[in-house]
Amino acid sequence: SGLEEVAELKTAPTQEAHRFDGGSLSIRGLRLSYGSLEVLRGIDLDVPKGSVTCIIGPSGSGKSTLLRSLNRLVEMNAGEVTLDGADIRAMKPETLRAKVGMVFQHFNLFPDHTARENIMLSLTRIKGLPRAEARRIAEARLADVGLEGRGDHRPANLSGGQQQRVAIARALAMEPEVVLFDEVTSALDPELVKGVLNLMADLGRRGMTMVVVTHEMGFARQVADQIVFMDEGRIVESGPPDQLFDAPRTERLKSFFAEVL
Ligand code: ADP
Ligand code: MG
Repeated sequence: SGLEEVAELKTAPTQEAHRFDGGSLSIRGLRLSYGSLEVLRGIDLDVPKGSVTCIIGPSGSGKSTLLRSLNRLVEMNAGEVTLDGADIRAMKPETLRAKVGMVFQHFNLFPDHTARENIMLSLTRIKGLPRAEARRIAEARLADVGLEGRGDHRPANLSGGQQQRVAIARALAMEPEVVLFDEVTSALDPELVKGVLNLMADLGRRGMTMVVVTHEMGFARQVADQIVFMDEGRIVESGPPDQLFDAPRTERLKSFFAEVL
């Protein structure tokens, strides 16, 4: 199941010296509609600095929409989201997206650029860094995700797992406060899932603040500081993993676990 390896990593000493300095998110009364369809119906959630929050729930419950509202890929209709105490609507979207990075199911890498260039592009274009500096950072983040020496490869010449690790390195290169992960292992061949989950567990241990939408219940249980169960646009239950997995309080969460576990 891959659990053994994740558990092992959780207690193993961190080899890499690089520590991340994540920020905190606070979500209050968040509502969001697509036309007449209300998809988020009042979300309240605190994501503490340096913590891993896993969001679980059935398809269509609003998990992706919640993530996308946190870096304003979609705009909320009501409520407030603060990042380290600052209202995200007061920030320029590109500033916010540098601080709140996102990794997607389908990687979203530029196919005509090498792994290194994919990482360098946002550093030169959004942060305005000189190419030499961007290159140095790209190499360091590639090493962080176990892809030292692969910088010259184009996405098509990397496995799905390696492409996803490039996408994670690209998010990390911006020195984000928070990284959002939306079902990042769902499109991977089964044998490649574990490597990406282990990398994510490692990032969590190294201080990154992470919000992770996932179907990987083993990962959620082992790595999350808090689990959030969503259904029909609301948080139905939340708490530490052991509480939700061992003692779900609602019929909805019980029946969800009956389907997925
Ligand atoms: P999940 O990630 O939990 O599967 P989503 O956030 O993707 O859920 O979707 C929640 C609901 O919003 C679904 O009913 C979906 O069909 C709808 N929805 C998602 N994106 C859009 C969109 N761009 N326009 C209209 N409806 C959408
Ligand atoms: Mg989704």
